[in-house]
Parts: sequence; C-alpha cells; structure tokens
Amino acid sequence: MKSMEKLKINEIFYSIQGESTYAGLPCIFIRLTYCNLRCTYCDTEYAFYEGKDMTIEEILDEIKKYNCKLVEVTGGEPLLQTGVFDLMKKLCDEGYKVLLETSGSISIENVDKRVTIIMDLKTPSSKMMKKNLYSNINYLKPDDEVKFVIGNREDYEWSKEIINKYELDKKCKVLMGCVFGELTNLELATWILEDNLPVRFQMQLHKYIWEPEKRGV
Ligand code: SF4
Repeated sequence: MKSMEKLKINEIFYSIQGESTYAGLPCIFIRLTYCNLRCTYCDTEYAFYEGKDMTIEEILDEIKKYNCKLVEVTGGEPLLQTGVFDLMKKLCDEGYKVLLETSGSISIENVDKRVTIIMDLKTPSSKMMKKNLYSNINYLKPDDEVKFVIGNREDYEWSKEIINKYELDKKCKVLMGCVFGELTNLELATWILEDNLPVRFQMQLHKYIWEPEKRGV
C-alpha cells in the first residue's frame, strides 16, 4: 500500500559526503525541514521553516534521478517528522545504504536497524548541551557514529569526559571536528594526539571543496 503521509523536505541534492566515516563518497542528501535546537554555530538555519511537502513515493522518484546508492537523511532535525521512520525503512528496502544525521535530542530507538546513525552530542559552546538525550547511547550499534563538534578547550575537555563516562569508543565510532572558523584543525589535532584520544578527527570536506557558505553541497 502506498503511504500518502507527506514529509516537509527542505532540499534534495547530490554531493560529496563531507562528514562521518563515509566522507569523500558521492551521496544523495535528503534534508528535512524543522529543528528543535538552535545551536550557536548552526549553518543550516534555512532548514528551520522552508520546505516542500512530498510523499515518500515522490522522494523516491526524485532520488532515482541520481545514479547513487548512498543516501543521507539530515536536517534540521529529521526525527521531528514521524514519517521519516517509514522513509528510512523504504530506502533500506529499496537497497540504499542509509545514513541518518541527528542532533541526539530525540530518541533513535525506533530507527530501522539497517540505518547507520551519525549522532551529535552537543558540546557546551553550542548552548544546546541540555538537550542531549543520553539514553540514546543505549541504542547505538558498533557501526554507528557519535560526533562531537568542538569550539574551544572547554568543549574538548567535556567531550573527553563523556567519552570516558559512557565508554563510547567501545560502543561505536567516535568523531571529533572543529566548529568552522572557531578553532583551527591544527589545534584540535594537536590536543587529540597529546591525549592519544581514541577518536577520528574529521573536517567538513564540503566547506573546503566549495565556498563555506554554499548551500546544496
Ligand atoms: S541541530 Fe543542526 S540544524 Fe539544528 S540548530 Fe543545531 S546545527 Fe542547526
């Protein structure tokens, strides 16, 4: 049976995956509208309200235009729209490798187990740290990824404590990157090496390939 439930979609585009352990690969991005957070460093404020209503079938038709089997469902916060769970299931059924990028403030319990989850834990400088839903850690799979976005030394120290407290590196992959323009890659890389921290350093590749402010890449 075809689902007529509509999702509000901010944009669908094809680009190079800029983050996560999938960085560098061609990827289709499905960006959903709305976000319940307001991070200080947000670079996708245009996704807070703008969007077009689409059924799951319309979304699938749209992405078939690209000859690519890697799809990222992102936002805003994609888990705010209940239809996203069916969308991800349908994408998996259709043979796509699905990545979900989520802020970590909404339960991931009901996300299809075939989906690779890339979940933020919001650091102090985001000013959204209180929204972290730590129970989500219980649902992370070994191939899932937790991401810390670091704006200063306080963020770094806080992230280290959280990694230790929840033994995150034993549960899943752990990523660390800088708030673009706030901290240099060299500073963060140096701290990670000094501490021999079991994390994967990452840069937002798309911000180096294209202009940092460019949308749809
Ligand atoms: S969770 Fe993401 S989209 Fe939402 S405010 Fe934070 S950075 Fe922006």
